[in-house]
Amino acid sequence: MAPRVVVVGLASDFGCQVQMTNIEDSLLDVLGLVDLQYWQLASSGHMPESYDVAIIEGAVTTDEHVELLGRIRRTAAAVMTIGSCANTGGIPALANTADLDARYASVYGSGPAVARGRRVAAPVDAIIDVDYHVPGCPIDMGEFVSVLSRALQGLSDRVPADPLCAICKTKENVCFLDRGEVCLGLVTRTGCGAKCTTLNRPCTGCRGLAPDANFSAARDVFIAKGLDPAELERRYDLYNAVREVTV
Ligand code: SF4
Ligand code: SF4
Repeated sequence: MAPRVVVVGLASDFGCQVQMTNIEDSLLDVLGLVDLQYWQLASSGHMPESYDVAIIEGAVTTDEHVELLGRIRRTAAAVMTIGSCANTGGIPALANTADLDARYASVYGSGPAVARGRRVAAPVDAIIDVDYHVPGCPIDMGEFVSVLSRALQGLSDRVPADPLCAICKTKENVCFLDRGEVCLGLVTRTGCGAKCTTLNRPCTGCRGLAPDANFSAARDVFIAKGLDPAELERRYDLYNAVREVTV
């Protein structure tokens, strides 16, 4: 029997699920191997009671999300998180650094329905164990297909761990820091092939913190290059307001 897969969205803009629809060829290759029972973005049905693999997009921002994740973990043999929201808290966690109550009130008013069940944004593996991770904003579909294939074969997760600069250097890109521009490659997890810097855009840290990231050394490099070291952490908050590295 083909593994039964569900795709679930928490707090996000569904961008990674949209990205999944953009890889028709490889998607069909992978989908030929699975029984896709529920895809929140693309189907109108309900979550089935049982399934084998759960793919989760989005940050955890409500008690309802926590309950759902508990059920998913008890049901699925493999849990996979996709995108920066699910892996690091991403953009939703930006609100954690400010007065959350005031932000909610300014957008939704102060009715009881607003206050009920909301939480400070967190990545999925702050709540349940996650077996496979696809970081990035949005995800790279080649990486998604490769990680899903590993999950279907029962192979271990292999999240790239080096800082982005290691790959960027091999592409012979002119370093943004040498041009007096802020780039977050020193502390960001690689795996995207230095996509942005190779397209002449600085890295904004969408793949999260590299496990060996050395902020102290990175600050020193910023100072040596004439850049404000406070910019390193300020810009890093965009995707990484939650700083714990769990993989
Ligand atoms: S700081 Fe940015 S541009 Fe410089 S090597 Fe690292 S990733 Fe490349
Ligand atoms: S270069 Fe940085 S911002 Fe761009 S995709 Fe890679 S990790 Fe994300």
